[in-house]
Amino acid sequence: MFPEFSLRYVRLPERFYLRFDPVPVPEPRLVAFNRPLAEALGFDLTTFDEQRAAEWFSGNVVPPGADPVAQAYAGHQFGHFNPRLGDGRAVLLGEVVDREGRLRDIQLKGAGMTPFSRGADGRAPLGPVLREYLVSEAMHRLGVPTTRALAAVTSGERVFRRVPEPGAVLTRVAASHLRVGTFQYFAARDDVEAVRTLADMAIERHYPHLLGPELAEGAEGERYLALLEAVAERQAALVAQWMGLGFIHGVMNTDNCAISGETIDYGPCAFMEAYSSTMVFSSIDEQGRYAYRNQPWIAQWNLARFAETLIPLIDDDQEAAIEKATAVIERYETRYEAEWLGVMRAKLGLAGEEQGDRALVEAFLETLAAGRADFTLAFRRLSEALQEDAPALLELFEDSQALREWLPRWRERLAREAASPEAVAARMNATNPLYIPRNHQVARAIAAASEHDDFAPFEALREVLAEPYAEQSGYEVYAEPAPAAERVLRTFC
Ligand code: AMP
Ligand code: MG
Ligand code: MG
Repeated sequence: MFPEFSLRYVRLPERFYLRFDPVPVPEPRLVAFNRPLAEALGFDLTTFDEQRAAEWFSGNVVPPGADPVAQAYAGHQFGHFNPRLGDGRAVLLGEVVDREGRLRDIQLKGAGMTPFSRGADGRAPLGPVLREYLVSEAMHRLGVPTTRALAAVTSGERVFRRVPEPGAVLTRVAASHLRVGTFQYFAARDDVEAVRTLADMAIERHYPHLLGPELAEGAEGERYLALLEAVAERQAALVAQWMGLGFIHGVMNTDNCAISGETIDYGPCAFMEAYSSTMVFSSIDEQGRYAYRNQPWIAQWNLARFAETLIPLIDDDQEAAIEKATAVIERYETRYEAEWLGVMRAKLGLAGEEQGDRALVEAFLETLAAGRADFTLAFRRLSEALQEDAPALLELFEDSQALREWLPRWRERLAREAASPEAVAARMNATNPLYIPRNHQVARAIAAASEHDDFAPFEALREVLAEPYAEQSGYEVYAEPAPAAERVLRTFC
């Protein structure tokens, strides 16, 4: 049933990882399994056996052909460099080639204390496992590049965080687990050859177009510069998508910044409800470093750290290399601004481009802030106000004065679009989701599973989030913001 492994990472020199077999758990039980993803990865589900799956996805049985390793990486955590992080509790089983011919990492998270664990327990509580499962799959359905969740298994063990919680293992699927921090690990050791190896792997796996003939013989430096630029482009597009969804990652450390451009490491992440550009949820982000509005600039900061690792590869003349890399990092700003404007234009139903669009978008965001309106629903219900003020939209605003003034401006702008109101509404509703993983709904699903072994709320949420743009009857409550008593203000890793 397990697809054949096509091992890559483990074929790198030994200093890239530590071989580590998952530490068995007492009572593995499969509590979630992603069948469509499994099929896409080439699993043969005709012979699917739940017990077997529980053994594989807990790490109790290493699937045939796997060669488990903990990957080495470093990282800037909240701006402070740690030269040796590595997978403290995750093991890469290996890579498989999916049905589309793409290489995919299969990793177990919560698989025991690896030599990188620095005293932590190597395990994961069920809550964060279910959160990552729900949110990463929701992001995928929302069209955001992301790691995926293949399976969740409870371990039969308790793990101790603030209170004892059921332990669990998440099976994560990624385009790769190469991070900015992976490059930093070797750059910090002046191991230029290792950085080159990683860069070549990143190009082969994620940016194969850079292997084109125009960058052949003697132009290696240009190729690594192009890699930097390509990664910067993907990060700009990625963060613009986050901003368009009100998504706050929460821990944008360089070890959580994927070279592939996927969203990775769902910890204290959250979706905003009432709009505020300075919103922070994470309990560990005391300074607000990773606040909503800082995300684009933190991504740029992370890219600058990535650029530093590539300097020796870009040009033999280090001064010249720094100059070229700096230009790329500076270009990120205009690139990001353009990506963001593209996302926001679409959210307002604008297909064309006009000079005043940025100001129009910014003015709408100001109305949200002034009215403390729910970010997701305000955009969603905007399509009801194409011709006249919609009560369902207005009621989202504590104070709708600014909005009432803004709506005619927007309609005037839309009048210059060659599309019927029906067509505009349709495309807006295909861009502005009705359902996002609301923090209180995720919290409810986690509480039911962790405290009562009841996975029904998790299943319901999983189902509704699979179709974020379509109204689903019976699921109206999932579109609603949290009632005051259930409002989530702090999230924990
Ligand atoms: P994160 O904040 O999830 O990006 O993790 C940062 C680092 O801490 C990584 O090296 C993780 O592998 C490690 N880590 C996080 N939680 C644990 C744990 N429970 N046991 C061992 N290592 C951990
Ligand atoms: Mg991490
Ligand atoms: Mg984490």
